[in-house]
Amino acid sequence: MLKLYIFNKKLDEKGNHEVHHVNCAHLPDSLNQKWLGHFLNCEEALDYAKRTYHRENFDGCYWCSPLCHDRT
Ligand SMILES: [Zn+2]
Repeated sequence: MLKLYIFNKKLDEKGNHEVHHVNCAHLPDSLNQKWLGHFLNCEEALDYAKRTYHRENFDGCYWCSPLCHDRT
């Protein structure tokens, strides 16, 4: 099942854009949400975000995307 992912336009305290799926209970303010698209999982969403924005500083949300959180 594809899920819609967004990321926070604002950087978190570690300098990352946090990536969430839209059902997360900890979404940023709607003004700070940037639409990414529909993906199977957070890895695909992060991969797409990095390729699209040519940045590496995307991180999965601790709550909704723990498998993609803080992996370095
Ligand atoms: Zn989240």
